Amino acid sequence: MKRLRLRIYNQTSKLFPSNNEEKGMRIVSGKPNIEDSSIDSNLRPKRLNGFIGQEKVKDNLKIAISAAQKRHEPLDHVILYGAPGLGKTTLAYIIAAEMGVSIKVSSGPAIERPGDLAASLTNLHEGDVLFIDEIHRLSHTVEEKLYPAMEDFVFDIFLGKGPAARSLRLNLPRFTLIGATTRLALLSPPLRDRFGVTYHLDFYSEAAIQTILDRSAAILKVLVERDGLVPIAQRARGTPRVANRLLKRIRDYAQVMANGVVTKETALKGLSKLEIDSVGLDDIDHRVLHTIIDKFDGGPVGLDTIAASISEDADTIMDVYEPYLLQLAFLERTSRGRIATKLAYEHLGLPYKKDAQPQPTLWSQKQT
Ligand code: ADP
Repeated sequence: MKRLRLRIYNQTSKLFPSNNEEKGMRIVSGKPNIEDSSIDSNLRPKRLNGFIGQEKVKDNLKIAISAAQKRHEPLDHVILYGAPGLGKTTLAYIIAAEMGVSIKVSSGPAIERPGDLAASLTNLHEGDVLFIDEIHRLSHTVEEKLYPAMEDFVFDIFLGKGPAARSLRLNLPRFTLIGATTRLALLSPPLRDRFGVTYHLDFYSEAAIQTILDRSAAILKVLVERDGLVPIAQRARGTPRVANRLLKRIRDYAQVMANGVVTKETALKGLSKLEIDSVGLDDIDHRVLHTIIDKFDGGPVGLDTIAASISEDADTIMDVYEPYLLQLAFLERTSRGRIATKLAYEHLGLPYKKDAQPQPTLWSQKQT
């Protein structure tokens, strides 16, 4: 019996490694990690009718795509903007498929020099899609080269230096640039102006996540009992990538602990091992909230101060942790800094004192 228990422990500890072992692999992060690559391509819907949720974006896209097809023109350049894991890359592939063209994929950090951009652009055929992920991370020099390419479909190359320098103009095929970003505000106005449309992807409703999970479970052939996926949908932070990742972990847990069937009870047990709370918050989210509440009396407190307190990068907090806390209305962004809301106190089971404080009256204001 003891040996059996030990074996089960060993198996589950492999499924749920401690944070130290994971080193930066956060289970509820919308950003991709190594374990996602194998499932991402399997689970990616290929056409617009398989893309669940984001109805407004889909409706507008359908119109834009059919209008472009009727005019026999490439689609306008598009920006897809939203938190990591919401489907920006998936949508870029879908747009190319719906337009019946090829897609070349690159990213802001990968296009280091104008030469890298020239290589990507000259590889395109008429109507193709160039997808640049994290487009806000393009360098200024590369960005400036992109302007004439987007506007006039030309790329200027400068040969030689000094008085003998010559410029050579390459004509490019007409293409569609799809830029994805998590931080629209970081895009320079001249770059932003050159895009025809901006589509904002929002967090998904629990019902939409449930549909995505049903679809993924069917593709991955996971045995699910009624309500088995509900606890996963509730903790997936409105993010398809997180939902799929949790599903995979719970499938593994169910295989080891419960004959492979995902029941509500198995899912709840597995999720509690992953240390994710009832709304999908993990240890780092709790640390962010506790820092604001315990150390700064609920705020307002500056982002850099929070970052220093929990030894995290301010950009990561803004990109990865904050959007979901804002979505839950646990956090408020004000000009004076971040504030933890009453809902956050309630969720953490802490007394909210601010309501009890008497509001300053006209008389007390005059006194001070
Ligand atoms: P992003 O580029 O925004 O980080 P991805 O497009 O890579 O996100 O999406 C991550 C994963 O989530 C995809 O592999 C896909 O399986 C799933 N996914 C995203 N959006 C949807 C959706 N609307 N319907 C179904 N699955 C989705």
